[in-house]
Amino acid sequence: MHSLVGLAACLVGFASYIDTSVQFTGAEKAIHEVEIYVGILIGAVTFAGSVIAFGKLSGKIGGKPLLLPARHWLNLAALLVVIVFGRAFLHAETIQDGMTPLFVMTAISLLFGVHMVMAIGGADMPVVVSMLNSYSGWAAAATGFMLSNDLLIVIGALVGSSGAILSYIMCRAMNRNFISVIAGGFGTGSGVSAPTGGGAQPAGEAIAVSAAETAELLRDAKSVIIVPGYGMAVAQAQHTVFELTSLLREKGVDVRFAIHPVAGRMPGHMNVLLAEAKVPYNIVMEMDEINADFPEADVSMVIGANDIVNPAAQEDPASPIAGMPVLEVWKAKTSIVMKRSMASGYAGVDNPLFYKDNNRMLFGDAKTMLSEIFGVLKA
Ligand code: NDP
Repeated sequence: MHSLVGLAACLVGFASYIDTSVQFTGAEKAIHEVEIYVGILIGAVTFAGSVIAFGKLSGKIGGKPLLLPARHWLNLAALLVVIVFGRAFLHAETIQDGMTPLFVMTAISLLFGVHMVMAIGGADMPVVVSMLNSYSGWAAAATGFMLSNDLLIVIGALVGSSGAILSYIMCRAMNRNFISVIAGGFGTGSGVSAPTGGGAQPAGEAIAVSAAETAELLRDAKSVIIVPGYGMAVAQAQHTVFELTSLLREKGVDVRFAIHPVAGRMPGHMNVLLAEAKVPYNIVMEMDEINADFPEADVSMVIGANDIVNPAAQEDPASPIAGMPVLEVWKAKTSIVMKRSMASGYAGVDNPLFYKDNNRMLFGDAKTMLSEIFGVLKA
């Protein structure tokens, strides 16, 4: 979809340049030509970048980042060429004269779009998709300027700015540098995408519990904080989570949800799932609102989340996720982690939470386990 918005911006740009039915003169002509040049530029980058992103996400193109030597210099050189040809375009006397710089710039923008996304590690594509979403908004806004269509400008600007904010939130929540993401090459250095990475191996033994024992812990609790993660989405367990939440609240338990900004695979992923299951908004808290409340909670229940509750981010400077803000579930009286195995999460790092004395592991599919807990509590 993003690629089509980009392609439309390119086609509208060329069409409005060769369209002689509307004649502009003086400053208006210059403004119109800048709109065309910038519109085609953003459109071409968005089109090429989105096609490559599609290829990577569908597995047609390998996920490994392509790192050309001196790629930042290449990008800088491309930018300079685009500026120089932009000048030539604005000074072109005839449409024919203007077409050459326009074609050169389009070709460079397409190559830049390809290069930008090829340089990003396949595992970091969610950030790229959000970024391309933003670019497609700006491409639509540029099309709006070219067509003098206010609605397109407004909608494009909304999509462009909200996509940019979303990308920024994602990067901040993952402790990433926003500028380096925009410049491409994201996910190639040390960081979240490192497969096993440095960091100390957690010591100790994980204590497993059954669904019945978990139900017992929940029944005795006054305050419960639920932390949903990617596994809840995979298991499609949100409706069962809602049923369990309602039951616990009926029994007088204070139940709240703690949402990490990058829980799942898109910002807002968990909020959407919980809203779909009709979980009331007023008990769904952002990380900053609820993180300080874990020490007062009797039970923190982690449903298919891993990296976002990994204490190594705070405790182990050598960990690949060091510095990433996390939900401090281990500070609750008891934490329960619901997942199928001891496997690592998206970041591929081990989680010392599993081995903490006050932590219990409830192994199994999130939906099945929650149904079992619900059954025991109901009975
Ligand atoms: P994680 O990917 O860290 O962990 C999810 C866990 O869910 C896995 O360890 C898996 O363990 C478990 N799981 C999978 N399927 C099921 C199931 N059916 N039932 C129960 N458990 C299941 O997810 P988090 O939400 O904790 O963290 C999100 C990660 O994604 C972070 O590393 C974040 O940086 C990254 N990310 C997020 C983006 C965003 O915008 N949200 C964007 C880019 C990256 P097991 O296999 O043992 O069941």
